Amino acid sequence: MAKTRKKASTKRPTRTSSAAAKARRYVYSFGGGTADGRADMKNLLGGKGANLAEMARLGLPVPAGFTISTDVCTYYYGHGRTYPGILKSQVRAALAKVEKTLGKTFGDAANPLLVSVRSGARASMPGMMDTILNLGLNDETVQGLIAQTRNERFAYDSYRRFVQMYGDVVLDLKPQSKTEEDPFEVALAEKKRARGVTQDTDLTADDLRELVAEFKALIKMRKGVLFPEDPEEQLWGAIGAVFGSWNNARAITYRKLNDIPEEWGTAVNVQSMVFGNMGPDSGTGVAFTRDPSTGENVFYGEFLMNAQGEDVVAGIRTPLPIAELAHQNAKIHAQLMKVRRTLERHYRDVMDIEFTIEQGVLYMLQCRVGKRTAGAAAKIAVDMVAERLITPKTALLRIDPERLNELLRPVFDPKAKTDAIGTGRLLAKGLNAGPGAATGNIAFHAEDAEVMAARGERVILVRNETSPEDIRGMAAAEGILTARGGMTSHAALVGRQMGKVCVVGCGALLIDYATGEMRIDGGHRTVRAGEAISIDGFTGEVFAGAIPTRPSEVVQVVVDKTLEPSKAPLYRLYAQIMKWADQYRRLGVRANADLPEQCEHAVAFGAEGVGLCRTEHMFFGEGKIEPMREMILAESVEERRRALAKLLPLQRADFEGIFRVLAGRPLTVRLIDPPLHEFLPHDEQGQREIAADMGVPYERVHTRVEQLHEFNPMLGFRGCRLGILYPEITEMQARAIFEAAAAVTRQGIPVEPEVMIPLVGHVKEFTLQAELVRRVADDVLRETNTKFRYLVGTMIEVPRGALTADEIGRRADFFSFGTNDLTQTTLGVSRDDAGRFLTPYVEDLEIYPKDPFESLDQNGVGALIRMAVDKGRAANAKLKLGICGEHGGDPASIRFCDTAGLSYVSCSPFRIAIARLAAAQAQLVR
Ligand code: PEP
Ligand code: MG
Repeated sequence: MAKTRKKASTKRPTRTSSAAAKARRYVYSFGGGTADGRADMKNLLGGKGANLAEMARLGLPVPAGFTISTDVCTYYYGHGRTYPGILKSQVRAALAKVEKTLGKTFGDAANPLLVSVRSGARASMPGMMDTILNLGLNDETVQGLIAQTRNERFAYDSYRRFVQMYGDVVLDLKPQSKTEEDPFEVALAEKKRARGVTQDTDLTADDLRELVAEFKALIKMRKGVLFPEDPEEQLWGAIGAVFGSWNNARAITYRKLNDIPEEWGTAVNVQSMVFGNMGPDSGTGVAFTRDPSTGENVFYGEFLMNAQGEDVVAGIRTPLPIAELAHQNAKIHAQLMKVRRTLERHYRDVMDIEFTIEQGVLYMLQCRVGKRTAGAAAKIAVDMVAERLITPKTALLRIDPERLNELLRPVFDPKAKTDAIGTGRLLAKGLNAGPGAATGNIAFHAEDAEVMAARGERVILVRNETSPEDIRGMAAAEGILTARGGMTSHAALVGRQMGKVCVVGCGALLIDYATGEMRIDGGHRTVRAGEAISIDGFTGEVFAGAIPTRPSEVVQVVVDKTLEPSKAPLYRLYAQIMKWADQYRRLGVRANADLPEQCEHAVAFGAEGVGLCRTEHMFFGEGKIEPMREMILAESVEERRRALAKLLPLQRADFEGIFRVLAGRPLTVRLIDPPLHEFLPHDEQGQREIAADMGVPYERVHTRVEQLHEFNPMLGFRGCRLGILYPEITEMQARAIFEAAAAVTRQGIPVEPEVMIPLVGHVKEFTLQAELVRRVADDVLRETNTKFRYLVGTMIEVPRGALTADEIGRRADFFSFGTNDLTQTTLGVSRDDAGRFLTPYVEDLEIYPKDPFESLDQNGVGALIRMAVDKGRAANAKLKLGICGEHGGDPASIRFCDTAGLSYVSCSPFRIAIARLAAAQAQLVR
């Protein structure tokens, strides 16, 4: 931030006086073909302000205005909601510049300048903060507007909208709950009722003038203050409200969901008004330079003639597709096509634009990098490389790794979907705003969606339209369905950004919030809250009841092998991106997988080996839990050995399967880890059943369970402690691994076993187990007369292991950071049931910026990792280093691992693609 600011102020010093030259600049003008700011000044000017400046520089028709920088926001909150002393005069000067450009005067009764006041943070926060339009109107200036436009009705409509917005936003009359009504809307409805009309447009100029007076009276009554007639006072009221809206509840929630830091603050943009509702030759619209849901290279957008921008975004009237504008106004359409080309060539990205046509003249009100679905992001990135607009490196940096998930999303089982159509379950069709297939129970209110999701239900949030208040409910839902609005409505934009399955503008739905039902087909069919529906975000179809889903195109090619790559365009994009990612990443990517089938999926997704095979998961398989329990119940070494002998061939067969699938890729097998009580039932009935199955008295089972009881099992008899006290378990497991490796080697398939000792905190724990494993390996190699390389290493998952990593590193071949346990033991926070306080810790108190079990606590746990890496490498230059905690699939943690110098990350098979891309990005941003 400081860097940009310095650049800006040294390049364009204010030269009016020496005092002013020294004063800090807080206000940046734009318009009339020039601008003080630039696109790369987002930190200071916010996204909207920086891009307005850039468009003005590009010679695009931007209504003149100015941006008050984010520094003022920082100052405002740091100084008890006050402004820097110099700000007033800078705003005055900038306003004078706008007046000069337009030949209008702010507050002038004959020729008034009217402005909009809008927020604009560094990252886009659609609809979360406040906006005020038509500012500058009062009983005098409205006369000027009437004279200018010769349209009294329009002038009073603008005036009443302004008083309403000012009352709602600046004077806080906006409804605070879902049941409360906007007092201005109530007055408006009352006026229509009194006049016997149904549409706002049926009200006359006189009606609207009366409404202005009624609105002002309402403000006086509800707030005890007079509506400010002085435009200057209006302006500062609006500026304060916009800065204040940075900390409203919606904005705070949105920032949390999108990792936007609180200290960024918002800028405020004051811009001369242009009107899209000045008659049939006026209009407004929003567009994307390419289709944001498919990525197709077509101009994509919507417009409404004789409307205000808010009408399109709020989804109150359903807009027309942009292609239609070519028929209605070919000149403007052609001009927009030129803007599209200019912007794409300049920004080398897909842009999302807002425009207004005022009496046949086009104005650009906003441009920003367009949000897109993951599929569209992939297509646009790959296409733009082919068009030589960007390089593969840029393409990789443009794709959010986390969102690759969307390419791996389910689709409906086609047969089940055809059946649903055949049996008349297709209810309606809306716009396909967010891809994927979702099935769930209906919630008509965002709060209900949250409650249902917390109960574990899958939810589809169904609304007439969504508003920023609904974001928590949207986040909780599987899918979002709205009756109104277009592809750029709130539901569509936010849903897409959240990666939700989303269908909007489904006009056939008649939603009745009061009765909790929606009617379709003119009321012939009714679906109620809590009932299941299914929505197809690829096609926009809405179905009654649940429809089973099927894996994504990528999954069908990669995992199921049921689809030819040539018939799978999405898969080909995925493959191209992965190919580029692999060229740039340094980190290896492995999978956490325990079964041959999982390993097969992992390899198909590009895993270069298995970084964690949790052997205990294998014990729950067919025929294995019984001998496992026998082993646990054994009262002597001999008894235990007898049980282990039954387990040996079963484990060996599992490992053989995995070695074969991996075909020479490394396999890290972790020896048994969990506390043994996890394998036994805790209730009397369960214990009686297994006693009967095993032919032992119930008391014996019960007593053993009691013996195994621990107050803190996660800090108890688990990990290497098991194998140290019962070495015969380690011996059996090592034998199973090496015998399997030998058998597969003899089949001509290379193997690379890596045996991993869990939960080591003391070097002696490691050596005791490692010696045993190495002895078994030597025995097996000799007995089977085979040759293969193997490694013996450890997990670093307790702080003492990290603190003594030099001692352990001298004896180990590798370390794998078990950051699930390392987080638990470093923070002293239970990984299993900490939600009760960890959720408020993260969401409300921001003690940790993210759940530390999801994204690595880099300052705490990360410091231990760095120390262990340094100590381990210093003691053993050949030490291999990896991570196998859940953090191995988290992009931010992967970046940390890259910097910390690990050799690989290991994550669940379906996160491999994410990890490959995140690893490439980690290198590209270095
Ligand atoms: C870990 O602790 O990070 C780990 C990978 O092991 P587990 O989750 O099985 O305890
Ligand atoms: Mg662990």
